[in-house]
Amino acid sequence: MPHDPRVYAVITHDFADSPKMQVVSVEARWALLEMILYSCRMQTDGVLSKRLAAAKWPLDVCLELASNDGEKPSLVETENEWIIHDFLEHQTSKAEIEARRKQKQEAGRKGGLAKRAGKTTPASRSQAGAKASAKQTLKQKRSKPKAEIRNKKGGGGHENGTANAPENSAETTPQPQSLDELAAAHAASQPDPRRCPDHQHLAPGTVPKCGQCAEARRAHDERQETTKANERKQRRQAINNCDQCDENGWVKGTNPARRCTHKPPRKQPPF
Ligand SMILES: [Zn+2]
Ligand SMILES: [Zn+2]
Repeated sequence: MPHDPRVYAVITHDFADSPKMQVVSVEARWALLEMILYSCRMQTDGVLSKRLAAAKWPLDVCLELASNDGEKPSLVETENEWIIHDFLEHQTSKAEIEARRKQKQEAGRKGGLAKRAGKTTPASRSQAGAKASAKQTLKQKRSKPKAEIRNKKGGGGHENGTANAPENSAETTPQPQSLDELAAAHAASQPDPRRCPDHQHLAPGTVPKCGQCAEARRAHDERQETTKANERKQRRQAINNCDQCDENGWVKGTNPARRCTHKPPRKQPPF
């Protein structure tokens, strides 16, 4: 383990046994794992575009995960995205990864790994020493990309997500506290599909009149409409082909009403 350069996600020990996993299909459980791993790898902070999700997982599976708990389902649906519930409580955020990388860079620039300098400030070291340390830092960064993202000691079982807290949390960027903030932070880090390449990072309200932006907006709206229409069509078809649910997709005879997965009923697990 100590020399394993791969990166890890945090899965709590009770993941498989949680009530939310018990009420969804095995396919949905696996899909949620895939989503978590994908989001860790791509550093999307638990946010998955619906387009990506549509390409990777059946809509039914997403809907199952979005309705497996009255208050805290595994997935939260927004207009254009699926958001993995509590992702940042367990996994390392993109901002944390960036902050740590910057910290390391800064440490390298000032010429010191704390280890080499002992516990004193690296600034007191000589120029020559600083250079050597900087080189060393660079070398380590090259040979161990992202090694800092790894979890310590297995990571699981920390109910409140302390497993993945950065060592110097005081130095890192403040983390989004709600799904809205999370979605906003994510949106800010993504290219805006409604702007042309020249006008990507202007503040809202400061974009000049631009034909290319207008064209980008038009194409974006069109794509959105098509995606939505396709989703509606898929849902409708699934409902039409299913005899478990009513015309709105609720399982017949359930109270409180349960969302139908449009799959043949499964045998209950033996407990
Ligand atoms: Zn423009
Ligand atoms: Zn159905």
